[in-house]
Amino acid sequence: MVARVTFSTVFLLIIVLIYRKKYKKTVQDKYDELNQKHTLKDICMFCSIAANSNKRTLYEDEDMFLVQDVAPRAAVHLLMIPKRHIKNIWALREQDKALLDKMKKNVLKVLKKDNDKELTIGFHNPYFTTINHVHMHIIGGKRSGLRYWLEFGNNFVFKSFTKVHNSLTHKMI
Ligand SMILES: [Zn+2]
Ligand SMILES: [Zn+2]
Repeated sequence: MVARVTFSTVFLLIIVLIYRKKYKKTVQDKYDELNQKHTLKDICMFCSIAANSNKRTLYEDEDMFLVQDVAPRAAVHLLMIPKRHIKNIWALREQDKALLDKMKKNVLKVLKKDNDKELTIGFHNPYFTTINHVHMHIIGGKRSGLRYWLEFGNNFVFKSFTKVHNSLTHKMI
């Protein structure tokens, strides 16, 4: 009897261990797949800008760069773009929280602000994005009416930094 119980326990333990290892590998594979280097640089506008050494940036480091939005909808309208090709906010995972934090921190430093009060910071709802490379919009000052509202002023098309950041908690796969 004792032998049988021990045998079953050991057997079960082995199964659990194998399964856990397999699951962990799946998570890692999935993450690698989502983050593999973009090979078609010419078709992603932000990847080609990231690769261009003559780009005009307000800030740049090895992970990100900050530019003016070409179609500003407010007095201040900037884009902080990660250099890694990440398709949209759905492709972000918990380990990307640090990247988002750094993106925001560097923007506030450039704008010489202690906090994000008076700023609208966030990301497109992927259904309404025009460029499939994740980018953070930073908007401040006088907003331009209806066009601003349509693109950035409502939760449906535009997700706030905090909302996106919080959604990544425990998001492994
Ligand atoms: Zn890209
Ligand atoms: Zn955009």
